[in-house]
Amino acid sequence: MLEKDIEKVFYSEAQIQERVKVLGQQISEDYQDKNPLVVGVLKGAVPFLADLVRAINVHLEMDFMDVSSYGSAFVSSGEVRILKDLDTVVEGRHIILVEDIIDSGRTLKYLVELLKHRKAASVKIVTMLDKPEGRVVDMEADYIGFDVPNEFVVGYGLDYIENYRNLPYIGVLKPAVYENAD
Ligand code: 5GP
Ligand code: MG
Ligand code: MG
Repeated sequence: MLEKDIEKVFYSEAQIQERVKVLGQQISEDYQDKNPLVVGVLKGAVPFLADLVRAINVHLEMDFMDVSSYGSAFVSSGEVRILKDLDTVVEGRHIILVEDIIDSGRTLKYLVELLKHRKAASVKIVTMLDKPEGRVVDMEADYIGFDVPNEFVVGYGLDYIENYRNLPYIGVLKPAVYENAD
């Protein structure tokens, strides 16, 4: 079972669900009659986006992008490559970019600049987690679920070598999990 690998839980399933409801209400108020395009960054943002859109009570569309930022399992490099682009025309649209976590801020900075270059009417960022201590470039989210300290977290979309994304809560792995990895 997955819980045996978890050292501590930062945010429980109930805390996450409660926070997502509040974010959804705020976004509903801010986007009345704007028909926003909600853009999820694969794969980490999927559980959050799925919960968030069901807490938003205005018309919206959804689309996804997949980007790779070269780096190790723990750090992103900032060199971003698009693996899957949007299917939707961005020009004139109000974009809500949904991320799992902002650490250095490099991935998001790249994506925001790309969407502005494509003439989005507006671009706002919603992230489940913010790790302010990790920031390397100037980048702040407009809506934030929770802050986390400078530790490697997993769950609710966040992976360690593609595992643990399906945990319904956010936590930290036991050191033994890393020691056992190849
Ligand atoms: P940034 O470009 O902001 O440094 O990178 C953000 C991306 O790095 C996230 O979307 C996520 O994929 C990964 N990342 C950053 N911090 C963590 C973390 O604590 N846990 C996990 N699992 N991924 C992280
Ligand atoms: Mg991400
Ligand atoms: Mg990852």
